[in-house]
Amino acid sequence: MGLATCSGAFAEPLLRRTFTHEAMGTEFNLTLYSRPEDKGTDEIRGIADEAFAVVDDLENKISVWRLDSQVAYINKHAAREPAKAAPDVIDLILYCTKVYSETDGAFDVTVGPLVKLWGFYRSQDESSPKGPLPSDEALAETCAKVGMDKVAVDRDKGAVSFARDGMLLDFGGIGKGLALDRAAEVLKRHGVTTAALSAGTSSIVVLGTPPAAAGWRVRVRDPYDDRASLDEVILRDEALSTSGSYEKFFELGGKKYCHIFDPRTGRPVEGMLSVTVIGRSGMETDALSTAFFVMGAEKTRAYCKTHPGLRVTLVPAGEKGGLHPVPVGDWDQAGKEPPPLENSRHPDSTPARGDDTQPFLLPVSVRVNPISQRPCPGRPEESARP
Ligand code: ADP
Ligand code: MG
Repeated sequence: MGLATCSGAFAEPLLRRTFTHEAMGTEFNLTLYSRPEDKGTDEIRGIADEAFAVVDDLENKISVWRLDSQVAYINKHAAREPAKAAPDVIDLILYCTKVYSETDGAFDVTVGPLVKLWGFYRSQDESSPKGPLPSDEALAETCAKVGMDKVAVDRDKGAVSFARDGMLLDFGGIGKGLALDRAAEVLKRHGVTTAALSAGTSSIVVLGTPPAAAGWRVRVRDPYDDRASLDEVILRDEALSTSGSYEKFFELGGKKYCHIFDPRTGRPVEGMLSVTVIGRSGMETDALSTAFFVMGAEKTRAYCKTHPGLRVTLVPAGEKGGLHPVPVGDWDQAGKEPPPLENSRHPDSTPARGDDTQPFLLPVSVRVNPISQRPCPGRPEESARP
């Protein structure tokens, strides 16, 4: 029997439960609804633990911070000999190759040498290099070690090879989204149909809709102020990811340098505050929010024309300051009342305990008005912003 399904009237209100877990350098949050008669507290706790365990398992495989991870092994050996990896790691690399080619190289998980060169592999405490900035020579030398076209994958043998010494895979742009997908699979396997899983302020994957609601209301933050919202979006059986220049950056000489790189120039992207993508899976939206951050509005628009089903909001750094969100993709479709989904509406349910009147707000980043292109009200017009 599934959790929080909606056939027939409920004798008991749905219970809302929340769980948290530290992983991948951030906090994972899980909220799910269940019927008291379905599963006991211990059983639900067990499901949450199992979902978090697959997140840990993925982190153990793909983290560049873990010396014993498979990716650390690949990074150490793949330039000398084909380095073996588990099938799911091989599949992840193949997926990244696909996104690399579909984004003309904007999404490139071989950015590791750039992340290192610009100082983002240092610990949080020392993540602000005091300078100097990399020289042109160092940049050219490092760029020669970047490029998914220099990675060969032998799927049958389960092995990866690098064409150059010093290459480094870095899944920071996709790992959390994939982790959420995998955790959501665990929930579904256990019959959970109504849940939201988020990874820090970066990505969220939702199943179904909360009781008596049109969907999960997700707050997308103002790129200038994490306490302020730009908007809310409604999600149902979808994923949302945000890439923001405010997430990780350092300042030097009065200028901010963010952690997302244009792999073609080797430099941190300038001129973009945040990009939010809504799509089918966490892996897809996480990768694409990073890619579109690099690509900018025009190329993102071209991408969305050939890849329907995405809702994207880019927030470029306006010339006069202020926020000028640019909606791209299928927002028109989203503006319509969504069709009823089987097992996901609760017209006859009593509100869940602990969730009587409050909107369900998740601490996910950027929120923009998806319909209009008007500048957000109340935004500062001064140009002193980053
Ligand atoms: P967050 O970590 O906040 O979710 P993103 O999903 O945008 O942010 O990922 C940013 C990370 O992705 C960087 O810290 C770096 O590890 C990696 N990265 C940076 N530039 C690129 C790029 N062009 N393609 C793929 N990965 C990138
Ligand atoms: Mg990303």
